[in-house]
Amino acid sequence: MPNVENVLRDIDDNFEVSVRKLLELISIPSVSNEIPGEPGILRAAHWLKSELSAIGLSAEIIQTNGHPVVLASSPAGSMIERPRLLFYGHYDVQPVGDLKQWKHSPFEPCVIEEEDGAHRFYGRGASDSKSQLWTFIEALRAWKSIECSFPADIVVMLEGEEESGSASLPAFIEAHRHDLQCDVAFICDAEMWSPTQPAITTRLKGLVHERVTILAPNPDLHSGHYGAVAANPIRILSNILTDIHDKAGRVRIEGFYDGVREIPDNLRQRWRGLEQDADQFEVNLSGGITEEGYTRLEAMWARPTVDMNGITGGNQGPGGRSVLPGSATARLSFRLVDAQEPGKIRAGFRAYVESKLPKGCTVEFEGDGGSPAVVLSHDSPFVAAAAHGLAREWETPAILRGTGGAIPLVHQLSEVLGVECVVIGFILPGDAIHAPDEHYDTRRLRKGVRSWVRIFEEIQLRIAG
Ligand SMILES: [Zn+2]
Repeated sequence: MPNVENVLRDIDDNFEVSVRKLLELISIPSVSNEIPGEPGILRAAHWLKSELSAIGLSAEIIQTNGHPVVLASSPAGSMIERPRLLFYGHYDVQPVGDLKQWKHSPFEPCVIEEEDGAHRFYGRGASDSKSQLWTFIEALRAWKSIECSFPADIVVMLEGEEESGSASLPAFIEAHRHDLQCDVAFICDAEMWSPTQPAITTRLKGLVHERVTILAPNPDLHSGHYGAVAANPIRILSNILTDIHDKAGRVRIEGFYDGVREIPDNLRQRWRGLEQDADQFEVNLSGGITEEGYTRLEAMWARPTVDMNGITGGNQGPGGRSVLPGSATARLSFRLVDAQEPGKIRAGFRAYVESKLPKGCTVEFEGDGGSPAVVLSHDSPFVAAAAHGLAREWETPAILRGTGGAIPLVHQLSEVLGVECVVIGFILPGDAIHAPDEHYDTRRLRKGVRSWVRIFEEIQLRIAG
């Protein structure tokens, strides 16, 4: 039997070194969706390859049409049948945005002891997602160094373009089907329930993006001359957008709810028990509209949405200008649940807009693809192992939660490869993800690393026999 206590002690003994290494990784500006980020992406990929090689995995950097994937696996040839576990993380980060809004430099992290007693480090990628991938790499390192072998057959896949839409991921997965075959994929890119309670995410929404432009029969006109009589695309577009929802917050687009299932009673009951905790959202929700008949958690985890992400047209300048704009544009996103189909949702929206278009005006749409929702099994042995391992480390049960977010990879792996996915992570909404002064703390890092060791132990007990 493995000596798990020794592995955990090794993690604690080695913790300072481990934090120092993570800070080194965070200091590499691997910004995904800006051209100047390219050298940082490559440096981070090489850095990770060498760390994975150092712990005994054979690692390579694989080029894609976008940013490279770092892929590593444990040596083949073990005589014993063991489960094969895949770990996914992403090493690219969001752009820093307005530097003036950062109190801490985004790529010079150090550990700071703060007034609330936490030891935090600030930096772009500190939470999303370099600390996340570091939890399983460090857990694998410690296990290997104490036990002289990995807890199972291991595949590590680290993506470099999650923050810019994972465009080359489907082709990569298709091309590397064989390398990625596994019994379970641990997707380490998700939130805990609270700073002290772990979670496994079992419901992810799908996502469709769409851009719509309404064009008047004329280019820009003088609003004094024609305001009383000519078509105004901003007014038309605003009316169309306002009409999408009825007073109860339901979407009026025909066929929008096709494939949406009512939330089962047992699930509703379980979620209602969590509703109080949800006050920890740390976001002021006043003025928001929740669909009638649903609690906030139910709406966030199990109801589809249409969101307006941006709207533009006409005079955006500093001063007034008497103009009737020739066009107006909006960007929308749709968050899908259950069996809603991205293609049908897009077509339904386009038909809805066309049905409302005044005579003489025209409309242009832009957008394709999208991902459907994924609901993961609650009762696989890997979910049970993960839930027990997490509960042991955090001394409180793991919450099986949903999220409004999408991880297209989960759909790819579960639907395309037929692999079971378990989505776990140790970040929180309060970590300023995608925002200035993104941060993380050493307590969650240590417990995150230790959590994986507990999970490995449970897998060995329950599954490896
Ligand atoms: Zn992100």
